[in-house]
Amino acid sequence: MRTQAISAELLSLVNVNSDIIGYKLSGEDNDSYMFRSPPEGSACEECGCLFDFDAVNPQFRVNKQIFDFSYTYDGRCIVSDKFKIFCERSEYDSLCFYELPSEPHFYAFSVTRVVAFDAEKRKTRFDGYCNVCNRYYSVAGAEPVFLMDDPKFLEKAFYATDILFGSGNEKHPLLIVGPSTCHSMIGEGFRGIYYRPIFRNGLGAKGQAILGTKD
Ligand SMILES: [Zn+2]
Repeated sequence: MRTQAISAELLSLVNVNSDIIGYKLSGEDNDSYMFRSPPEGSACEECGCLFDFDAVNPQFRVNKQIFDFSYTYDGRCIVSDKFKIFCERSEYDSLCFYELPSEPHFYAFSVTRVVAFDAEKRKTRFDGYCNVCNRYYSVAGAEPVFLMDDPKFLEKAFYATDILFGSGNEKHPLLIVGPSTCHSMIGEGFRGIYYRPIFRNGLGAKGQAILGTKD
């Protein structure tokens, strides 16, 4: 019942508010690490950051298995079989589901359709530039979300920002969906996922409650 009530509230928000161009996805913590420390040769010797933030640890286990959409402490998005089946049935493209050898019912999830984030407008802070791998160690200031080109609304699709946020090996892009995709996802009642509205020009986003289905 609680899930249904929240879904109705969310659906009305999706349908009514024309200033909402999309939704940022966030997930519960699954109490796990993809890598406690990067394997030999997989990270920059100077700053310690992984060369490939999509790398999979074959021993990785999901400590909290109740969520369909969740994040590790080191910033990796993990999704369930149910989530993958929904995406395939809906024929979403530009998605990567990395198999986890020690967790056959879960996948490391990433999105290859990129949307440009307006770091200047958001005043995002880039710190700790590494002269060896030419990346910043820390990128802070993701929300409220400001997108370049200020689209009227995002299409029925998943998007990843061109900027990775966070510190060290926690860095990951924001994952975003268009309103109709959010609408479909809410109908699935996924566990662990939150949808935060993204408003045109970033306006009105401050203080906006995160709504979703927790359990
Ligand atoms: Zn480096």
